Amino acid sequence: MLEKLSAKITDAFRFVTGKSTISEKNIEDAVEAIKMALLEADVNLRVVRRFVNSTIEEAKGEKVLRSVDPGQQFIKIVHDKLVSFLGDADPSSRALKLRGPDVITNILMLGLQGSGKTTSAAKLALRLKKEGRKPLLAACDLVRPAAMEQLTVLGGQIGIPVYREDGAKDSVKVYQNALIFAKQNLIDTIIVDTTGRLQIDEIMMAELSCLKETVKPDELLLVADSMTGQSAADIAKTFDEKIGLTGVILTKFDSDTRGGAALSLKTITGKPLKFTGTGEKPEDFEPFHPDRIAGRILGMGDVVSLVEKAQEVIDQKEALELQKKMEKENFTLDDWLTQLRAVKKMGSLQSMLEMIPGMQGQISEEDIDKAELKKQEAILSSMTRKERANHLIIGPPRRSRIARGSGTSVAEVARLIKKFEKMRGMMKKMAKGSKGGMPNIPGMSF
Ligand code: GDP
Repeated sequence: MLEKLSAKITDAFRFVTGKSTISEKNIEDAVEAIKMALLEADVNLRVVRRFVNSTIEEAKGEKVLRSVDPGQQFIKIVHDKLVSFLGDADPSSRALKLRGPDVITNILMLGLQGSGKTTSAAKLALRLKKEGRKPLLAACDLVRPAAMEQLTVLGGQIGIPVYREDGAKDSVKVYQNALIFAKQNLIDTIIVDTTGRLQIDEIMMAELSCLKETVKPDELLLVADSMTGQSAADIAKTFDEKIGLTGVILTKFDSDTRGGAALSLKTITGKPLKFTGTGEKPEDFEPFHPDRIAGRILGMGDVVSLVEKAQEVIDQKEALELQKKMEKENFTLDDWLTQLRAVKKMGSLQSMLEMIPGMQGQISEEDIDKAELKKQEAILSSMTRKERANHLIIGPPRRSRIARGSGTSVAEVARLIKKFEKMRGMMKKMAKGSKGGMPNIPGMSF
């Protein structure tokens, strides 16, 4: 996900990094390369123009050209621009509007068929359940025959009740009965799965408008497929004009998405991107953080999300320790091994790996390089605990032994240690950076 965009943008920085002074021409070259990268990522042309113009304007100022490290200053500008194009600085703009426990909150899920609407309804329900709420899934997609069944199966998997009426024709009536059921069963949130079509049409919009009138939803979330690029933003715009939206969920963010949808949405629709779907499983669902995604695009990884995700699987204490270790540079090879094993337990492997600083470019689409991971695990397992606790003691004799034990070569062992050292430095910066303030951006990839 996003790796092509990431590779192209970080490549554009070669025009401005590693120089003590940079010229306006250097900036123009870098911006031109970024422009091509954005267009290839299927970002809307209007958005690209705005991005390019505002970046050039800011980057050509005295602050950059005269600064001690102009390359880093330039990267910081691109980072900040990416963040602002991805979303609002204020996180409350992305928070769901949820009512108190005594008043039922209604969430209407909208979207075209195949966008991932039904799956996302279940994912959202699971998330709210984990937050202590009592959600109900209401099966109001009466057009797609399998939708009701799919929702029932998903609800069963995650332990969430599903209200359905077989053979029903009127989604408004189904909702009204779901509301009665909710009141009788102390439900505090109703997530309504609505009808979808392959394309936007008047009949669908009319039905959704009727449903909206009755439901009076607190949230109207459009589920859009990030694989469709900038047309996801166009679809969102139409839904917003016809029905009105409070936010967007971008699905399939784990797949080969080029980034066009995420980067175009806010400018085209003015609506916040609230969540991303990052896999097929109910837990593959993340709140959207513009700064973290910008970090991923710039190859800086997303340690914060990784730690958060880890918290769901590893126990809380362990995860906190991990974060502290990252900050203090106490992160050891032993921690890496623990992390590698934990990653195995977590949802989509690819989306997890891409959160690790510098990993983006290294992941091929077809093969997530499970072989490489296995190799890393083999090398780490062939070390003694003492070695993993302090990699500095691993001199040439130990390296040969580890290589023999893991069925790899001395060069591979050396490479892993080198990679680890870089990763650790990067983690420290990222961990600090995530607490506010911008870290001095490291050499992007390793
Ligand atoms: P609907 O027609 O909009 O209700 O779409 P579905 O919820 O049935 O989803 C369509 C397909 O996309 C299903 O095969 C889902 O498993 C898949 N899907 C949904 N969300 C995601 C996601 O975030 N990542 C991936 N990889 N697949 C997803």
